[in-house]
Amino acid sequence: MWIDTHCHLDAAEFDADRDAVRQAARQAGVTRCVIPAVQRAHWAEVAQLAQRHGDAYALGIHPLYVPQAQEADLQALDQALRERAGDPRLVAVGEIGLDFFVPALCTPEMRERQWFFYTVQLQLAQQHGLPVILHVRRSVDLLLKGLRQCPVTSGIAHAFNGSAQQAQAFVDMGFALGFGGTLTFERALQLRRLVCELPLSAIVLETDAPDIPPHWLYQTAEQRAQGVAQGRNSPAELPRIAQVLADVRGVSLHDLATATTGNALRVLPKLAGL
Ligand SMILES: [Zn+2]
Repeated sequence: MWIDTHCHLDAAEFDADRDAVRQAARQAGVTRCVIPAVQRAHWAEVAQLAQRHGDAYALGIHPLYVPQAQEADLQALDQALRERAGDPRLVAVGEIGLDFFVPALCTPEMRERQWFFYTVQLQLAQQHGLPVILHVRRSVDLLLKGLRQCPVTSGIAHAFNGSAQQAQAFVDMGFALGFGGTLTFERALQLRRLVCELPLSAIVLETDAPDIPPHWLYQTAEQRAQGVAQGRNSPAELPRIAQVLADVRGVSLHDLATATTGNALRVLPKLAGL
């Protein structure tokens, strides 16, 4: 049994075959997906998708959607979290965070706006007693600063790619670190070293589908220039990604499944009630 702790099943890339994608993942052994929302317009849809497929979801405003978000969306989030408090499938606030990789998000105004949306959403998570799912890109230290100012119960630092020390800081705050397709590239030496050094209890698995394709779906810039479309990642890839991690760490696939599933239930406790 596998849990894909981060899967954007609501993405437009799945419009044509969403149900088939979810079904293929189930056949591959992925019993549960966590679908984090990226913007207010998708909140109802991620909730419906989770309901339809026996999955879980999170509500929030993703840093890449902060430029077009309204401050009123934060009040709407507060209200949505209150209205859905009794929904067992609502397991976290997310996807929230800070992105200092995308140039348009790095202007002083955008940094400040991202910080505002991040910290208000942290407060909402705290008030509603929910964990958070964090988007981390060149922003670990500020994300940790926000968490120190406004601690939440637990969460996941998704697509983690920081140092061992930064990983430990998240673990100390009750977080797990999410890993996925990036691990499948042999050149990801630093990341592979990190996942070997971390205690197994710190790791959860994710695909981030349709993004972050594993190497067997990945098309290089050269291939794409020749017209080959970038491979679409899907939750059915999770067990194969897990096999790479199991090989790198030298654990059995069975033990890895047991440990990472247990970790997901620990950091997103409402998953255990589904
Ligand atoms: Zn995401």
